[in-house]
Amino acid sequence: RWVYINGKYFRKDEAKVSVFDHGFLYGDGVFEGIRVYDGNVFRLKEHLERLYDSAKSIMLKIPMTMEEMQQAVVDAVRKNGLRDAYIRLVVSRGAGSLSLDPESCSDPQVIIIVDQVRLFSQELYDNGLPIVTVPTRRNIPDALNPKIKSLNYLNNILVKIEANRAGVGEALMLNEDGYVAEGSGDNIFIVKKGVLYTPPGYVGALEGITRKAIMDLADQLGYPVKEQPFTRHDVYIADEAFLTGTAAEVIAVVEVDGRQIGTGKPGPITRSLLEAFRKLVRVDGVQ
Ligand code: PLP
Repeated sequence: RWVYINGKYFRKDEAKVSVFDHGFLYGDGVFEGIRVYDGNVFRLKEHLERLYDSAKSIMLKIPMTMEEMQQAVVDAVRKNGLRDAYIRLVVSRGAGSLSLDPESCSDPQVIIIVDQVRLFSQELYDNGLPIVTVPTRRNIPDALNPKIKSLNYLNNILVKIEANRAGVGEALMLNEDGYVAEGSGDNIFIVKKGVLYTPPGYVGALEGITRKAIMDLADQLGYPVKEQPFTRHDVYIADEAFLTGTAAEVIAVVEVDGRQIGTGKPGPITRSLLEAFRKLVRVDGVQ
């Protein structure tokens, strides 16, 4: 494996950043997770737009244009010779003093890691995932706004720990008003009477690129989609539920907090969207 750092390639074990990097010291940076399917980098433009938006919001100047970044990502995939891969693109504030002042950091670090990812087993894609809701809340102020994909993922990590402790593969966060926000690394959809619902961004969710792809596919397949806040109760009584994310792709949820969802098997709308998504990713991407 070759890791790109600021225009140079390093072998996996030699790819290093400074312990004075504010990404490490303070979580001061932004990132993206991107998938490559059969040589196509899926929705690269959307991921780069989100990366640059996140960076702009935290006043981090990425030292290359979006076109240069696109080229670097495509090159890094090629260099690693993988047709199917997961890309982790990180831009950190760079090395500085121990003070948290970002003015002490002169060179942002641009890192591109290309590897493989397997979040859930095939068995879980076939049979669906049991999940729980957890006490950790999705808070939405200022730079911790979930729309910013920053290196501050502590809430998401706590959610993952809570999911692990409950013996399930993923968990849902609520926001401070009790509305369902999202999973630790994915968005949630529920289906009721043929209509899809997903929480709007302002509830406290990242506006996922997979989420958008699924909304478009649902539209094409004739399923109405509503961005609307909903509670745990609505999830419990849904006909179907599923999660979407770059790593998770589309995975059915068949149990939430011990309540069976629908028939307890991946529902027909979820299955048709997963099938459509699998087709889409093979054709829609940057080569
Ligand atoms: N929510 C969070 C907190 C995430 O980290 C991710 C992953 O990027 C998602 C949702 C899903 O977004 P996407 O489909 O763009 O990967």
